[in-house]
Amino acid sequence: MKIMTIYAHPADTVTNCGGTLARHADDGDDITALILTHGGRIHPNRYAEEWRKDDPDRTITGSGLAEVITNKKDELSRAAEILGIGKVITLDRDDAVHTVQDDLVEEVARQVAAEQPDVVICDYPLNPAQSANPHTAATMTALAGIGRAGIYLENLDGRSEVNVKQIFFTSLPVFATEALSSNGVRNDLFIDITDVVGRKIAAMDCFASQGYDGNFARKLIESNNGEFGRAAGVNFAEAYVRHYNETHALLPVTSYAESTDVLTRHLSYSRIDLRSEHPAAR
Ligand SMILES: [Zn+2]
Repeated sequence: MKIMTIYAHPADTVTNCGGTLARHADDGDDITALILTHGGRIHPNRYAEEWRKDDPDRTITGSGLAEVITNKKDELSRAAEILGIGKVITLDRDDAVHTVQDDLVEEVARQVAAEQPDVVICDYPLNPAQSANPHTAATMTALAGIGRAGIYLENLDGRSEVNVKQIFFTSLPVFATEALSSNGVRNDLFIDITDVVGRKIAAMDCFASQGYDGNFARKLIESNNGEFGRAAGVNFAEAYVRHYNETHALLPVTSYAESTDVLTRHLSYSRIDLRSEHPAAR
């Protein structure tokens, strides 16, 4: 299977679906991460914190945009290697992408056509009517690009249509465990990342320039992936909303559902002490 992620910023791929990608990489799947912006301005902790010191290191405070971006790309490429992301494509737009831009849609469509992914992972567009948020804008761009690639015609575009079979949305902040709460708005699919949680932590540790390493990596995974894990009935999970309906020949029941013991479920998903197993370097 070919998976393509489409996100606004370099670290988004890791924080949202890094564990899922690691599991698919281990299973032999082909993964491409498409990142719309260079991320040079978002979470510039390394540089801003240095300015606050009485005697700042001028080699850090003197970094221009090119150096900031190069450092972020180095962090991204080390994280990608840890997770098994085979290919990283950075479109290097400025971080301030707040609207859907036609030329960027066309570029995304070209990348989707070149990569031919079976599935795409991107952020849930929290407010597509009033985007302003770069994550929403990135997903609206991704959906438009996938739509554009879906109607390519050999006669007109020099390439045939691309059939993306499913789109999985991340970052929907809803933790309901059934269909009736929250009027049905919920994550409807979880991936158990317990076996690869150490690699997700190690990948987040790469993003030291934006303060994502150390305690923050552990806090985010304990709280976010831990809470998704509670909803999923496992120690750590990543959560998704499926864009398209699924069709099955028979009603599906997962192996996780079959093996769940409702009496001890809360204990089995609370086994791991993340910070003792993966201590922070700082
Ligand atoms: Zn982001």
